[in-house]
Amino acid sequence: MENRIYNFNAGPAVLPISVLEEIRDSFLNYDGSGMSVTEISHRSKWFDNIINDAIERIERLLKLDEQFHVLFIQGGASMQFCMIPMNFLKKGTVADYVNTGTWSTKAIKEAIILDKKVNITASSEDKKFSYIPRNIQFNKDSVYAHITSNNTIKGTQWTSFPDTGDVPLIADMSSDIMSRPLDMSKFGMIYAGAQKNIGPAGVCMVIIRDDMLELVQDDLPSMLNYTTYSSKNSMYNTPPCFAVYTIQLVMKWLEKDIGGLKNMEAINRKKAELLYTVIDSGSFYKATAETDSRSLMNVTFRLPNEDMEKLFIQEALENGMAGLKGHRSVGGCRASIYNAATIEAVEALADFMKTFEKKKG
Ligand SMILES: *Cc1c(COP(=O)(O)O)cnc(C)c1O
Repeated sequence: MENRIYNFNAGPAVLPISVLEEIRDSFLNYDGSGMSVTEISHRSKWFDNIINDAIERIERLLKLDEQFHVLFIQGGASMQFCMIPMNFLKKGTVADYVNTGTWSTKAIKEAIILDKKVNITASSEDKKFSYIPRNIQFNKDSVYAHITSNNTIKGTQWTSFPDTGDVPLIADMSSDIMSRPLDMSKFGMIYAGAQKNIGPAGVCMVIIRDDMLELVQDDLPSMLNYTTYSSKNSMYNTPPCFAVYTIQLVMKWLEKDIGGLKNMEAINRKKAELLYTVIDSGSFYKATAETDSRSLMNVTFRLPNEDMEKLFIQEALENGMAGLKGHRSVGGCRASIYNAATIEAVEALADFMKTFEKKKG
């Protein structure tokens, strides 16, 4: 594609080219409406079809039964950090949190600001969040247990989810939602800011189970109350129409072009393997995450020194590969290879890494 770059940005991130083309082609006149999708009413039949089709596709892809509700909420994943304790923790009750990095830390911080009781059940802070804790003993009396399924900044990911018994598990899946099949029976709620794996910024997808809605506190502002969204099909006020529309198209791409989440996972595994193989093949590149905790979405690595890392990022850009700088809080390099990153893009990066190592190693 002319003028397109290989995009390894962490978020907002790459979207499937066919989705961008469809947006472009229908932009001035959406489905015969004579208006752009950003100009139609959210109460129109067009938008009704968009949001309902998006929800149905999400339900099919994740095999959700009728216990689950798909909601679209503004404020990003970060707003969920406060909505979760606000909605579910009444005075005197406690929630478990597993701290696996920057985003978990922020989720915990918001609960504490609200003066809620949190129990840090496990943490990988002792080794700079380079691994996912195992054999965690969750507190039986907790209202929920919160984890971050993929740690976008540290490059670690839960390969399987912990058993929390009767305590509902809540997961921030912002950076790996729809990247693999999911057994939703383990979860009371999951949420994902759209801009990593499923769409543009401006909306957070929340999937919540019936019994969680029964826990919702009744003294909350409407916009911070989950039942406001579940009772109005996420249209109590104007939803982020364009973001929801793009999610609909990405879900259609996942179903029709990719063929579902099993296929998506196979592609994602192949992409990650291409990069980790280069990293592990010598001592020039060093993965920052422990082997059994490595993310399939965000591949984090270091080079022998910071000057070399700068040069690597610069030369990669000159070769048409963008977004390889690690998060400002940790440095190093990071290749975000979300669903829409193509095998072709990742092969190009793997080849570039080999060439760079030969030259400088
Ligand atoms: C990016 C990210 C967030 C923050 O998302 P916003 O939509 O910017 O609030 C939270 N959690 C994880 C795991 C992320 O990757």
